[in-house]
Amino acid sequence: LLEVNHVFKTYVDANRSLTVLNDISFTINKGEFVCLVGPSGSGKSTLLRMVVGLDRPTRGQIFYRGREVNGVMEKMAMVFQSFALLPWLTVMENVTLGLEAKGLPRQERETIAKKYIDKVGLDGFEDAYPRELSGGMKQRVGIARALTMEPELLCMDEPFSALDAFTAQNLREELLDLWLDVTLPVKSVLMVTHGIEEAVFMADRIIVLSKRPARILADVKIDLPRPRNMKDE
Ligand code: ATP
Ligand code: MG
Repeated sequence: LLEVNHVFKTYVDANRSLTVLNDISFTINKGEFVCLVGPSGSGKSTLLRMVVGLDRPTRGQIFYRGREVNGVMEKMAMVFQSFALLPWLTVMENVTLGLEAKGLPRQERETIAKKYIDKVGLDGFEDAYPRELSGGMKQRVGIARALTMEPELLCMDEPFSALDAFTAQNLREELLDLWLDVTLPVKSVLMVTHGIEEAVFMADRIIVLSKRPARILADVKIDLPRPRNMKDE
């Protein structure tokens, strides 16, 4: 589903150049829930941004569904650490944003959005504004918006780190339920996290990056007999 092939990333500005990623290669198959862990500043967010087409590798290539990633791709979506909601838009409007960019008519946008708003448990909050929501609810909006893209690969950058421990744990469990829901298009997840415990709880595979310039230190399969492992195709 995703192939990261000898990717390097060097940030260059006026007086210095910083190599962040140093020859990163891995693939993600359908049915895998992969967590990417590594020290702060190792380039996890950089790598995820390149996977979703928000940035480009300095060297190397990334392929998604057989095509080289260049710009935002079909059937791929990202959930951000800080939710990335627009405060002047309602829940419904935030969730339909990506569908608007696709040029779908309003009626159709709202039907799709409503389906995913319900899925994440926000039925009845369609007309609320982000400031009226708790952190956990805001991230549910972020997840609903990502799901409207009907992503086969769902990318998440520390999606629970801005939440209190209790809310974070509830959302982790809800996310695993969504992951198990075979009516959803999501086939694979790539999630960046600081927390090795979170990674062990969520993932069936963990990729560990070294400190900058990051290489892959380990790529480990967690072989727990979890029901979602049956999702393999
Ligand atoms: P954290 O765990 O703290 O989120 P991270 O692993 O996600 O860290 P990145 O955000 O990818 O790390 O950043 C890696 C390095 O690249 C950092 O040193 C950061 O300062 C630098 N960096 C990130 N984005 C840019 C940019 N647009 N221009 C220049 N340097 C950048
Ligand atoms: Mg980061």
